[in-house]
Amino acid sequence: MTVKKNKIIQYRKNCIGCNSCTEHAPGNWEINQTDGKATLKRSVGIDDMFIAEISELEIEDNKRAAQDCPVGIIHIVDPQGKDISFD
Ligand code: SF4
Repeated sequence: MTVKKNKIIQYRKNCIGCNSCTEHAPGNWEINQTDGKATLKRSVGIDDMFIAEISELEIEDNKRAAQDCPVGIIHIVDPQGKDISFD
């Protein structure tokens, strides 16, 4: 049986490269030098949506990243699929 984990979801197309997420959680985010947008590390992409599984220890920093993203394209989702970005 696979244990479900918390996830970060990023809708990358509308990223404006403000750097906020990389400052909150540098372990999970980096600015791509080619297009200037944030790349979610260790993610799998489907069209514009990128998903990465995260540990409990990574949740709080990434919630702050989600809350401060000026274009609202970062979401933190619990193992049941509930958006906990603003909890
Ligand atoms: S906080 Fe949002 S807009 Fe800013 S770099 Fe990260 S994903 Fe892009």
